[in-house]
Amino acid sequence: MSKKVRVRFAPSPTGGLHLGGVRTVLYNYLFAKHYGGDFILRIEDTDQTRFVAGAEQYIYDTLDWCGLEPDESPEHGGNFGPYKQSERKTIYRKYAEQLVSEGKAYYAFDTTEELETKRKIIPNFQYNISSRHEMKNSLTLDQDIVKRLLEENEGHVIRIKMPGNEEVKFTDMVRGEVSFSTSQVDDKVLLKADGMPTYHLAVVVDDYLMQISHAFRGEEWLPSAPVHILLWQYLFGLENMPQWAHLPLILKPDGNGKLSKRDGDRLGFPVFAMDWIDPKTNEKTAGFKEIGFLPQAFINMLALLGWNDGSEQEIFSLQELIEKFSMERVHKGGAKFNYDKAKWFNHEWIKKSMAEGEWLLVKKVLQDAGLEINNEEKLKKIIELVKDRCTLLPDFVQQSSFFFKTPETIDVTAIQPKWDEKKNLFFIELMNAFEFINQWQHDDLEKEFKEIAAASQIKPGDVLLPLRIMLVGGKFGPGVFDIAVILGKEETIKRITRTLQLLEAV
Ligand code: GLU
Repeated sequence: MSKKVRVRFAPSPTGGLHLGGVRTVLYNYLFAKHYGGDFILRIEDTDQTRFVAGAEQYIYDTLDWCGLEPDESPEHGGNFGPYKQSERKTIYRKYAEQLVSEGKAYYAFDTTEELETKRKIIPNFQYNISSRHEMKNSLTLDQDIVKRLLEENEGHVIRIKMPGNEEVKFTDMVRGEVSFSTSQVDDKVLLKADGMPTYHLAVVVDDYLMQISHAFRGEEWLPSAPVHILLWQYLFGLENMPQWAHLPLILKPDGNGKLSKRDGDRLGFPVFAMDWIDPKTNEKTAGFKEIGFLPQAFINMLALLGWNDGSEQEIFSLQELIEKFSMERVHKGGAKFNYDKAKWFNHEWIKKSMAEGEWLLVKKVLQDAGLEINNEEKLKKIIELVKDRCTLLPDFVQQSSFFFKTPETIDVTAIQPKWDEKKNLFFIELMNAFEFINQWQHDDLEKEFKEIAAASQIKPGDVLLPLRIMLVGGKFGPGVFDIAVILGKEETIKRITRTLQLLEAV
């Protein structure tokens, strides 16, 4: 690659970050890091009417959670700042004026009311090559009038003058050759009446000024591409233009259309990276983070929604993704989202990351659930025991809280139907034996348990489930003797005694 690789994620902060948005971040990041380049975060907030409190901070927090730190951003600065378009307002006008003076754009003085009237008369009214001559703009008004209106600061916008019936072509890194006819595109506003650029002007000017080498974004931006290509051609010459890639959509599980926030609510899975609470409606959209995903799993799952390395491998660390990622292997077609598969990734990552010592996350989840953790060595052993049974982080609460506090309820109804005096005696003997056991270890406990069962002519299987229920409260959990070892002698005996009393009372 001849040019230094510089890519950007350029979100408009209007709400939570959808899976697709985070995947765009990820592909940008992986590509940049693969080539030793820079990953830039640019906040595209020129549309003041769409301002949403908290949305910008949400983007920083999401990137932080995912571990995809930008090299340059509004938070960390860089040599090409500012990185927030609202702070770059004064930069853009000169480019729009340059286009006007070269005849590639024009001033338009139509008021909002005039445009609305037009829209009422002509449904789907478009300000374009066939309608611009009947509107109030610098192409139709006398030059003296235009001059006077500008001097008098009459409200106006600057619009691009789309050429008629020209072909605009470019090579997309994912889709190959793409071409548009300019006649399909209207005269987009470039500079608004408040002096702010629109997205179209700002994105091109900033990609140029920030020396962006590759621009990757969601497929939904493809219709805007012809405007951007023309602006590049007019302002900076096509040879300086970044290489484009429009990334395929993430589809609903049945493949029918783009996955939306509403599909998540409907089908019961998160669609946003982190919880998002709409500041206006207070409505919450669930996030992968809070539902209990590990960032490694989230990233891994997203990377494979639209890319693979050509092998059967599915579990990749961020470092491996950086090494293996290539734009050539990004699929053209949309990728169906599958929540069960997403959970599978999390399960795999829970096992993997716990083995690598990442137990602090679990400690926090347990503490947040009100459990008191004062022995970290014990906690680590418990995690090892139960991690295979956990798909989401909160599963650790369900799977291990009985280690930290006596179960609130004991499912005696699951023991009761097959309970008899013989079993009662078995447990009394078992407690006696446990009391005097030398080594409180798995094999010793099991040996003792089996010997007493044999002597009592009871099948070990018939008393194993009751013992489990006595210790954990219900029919779940890892190996019974592993549980007893961690609970310790005193607590084990206490729980057996408690259940025997409950059974007696029934
Ligand atoms: N500001 C656009 C957005 O909100 C970015 C599109 C682009 O990357 O060019 O997604």
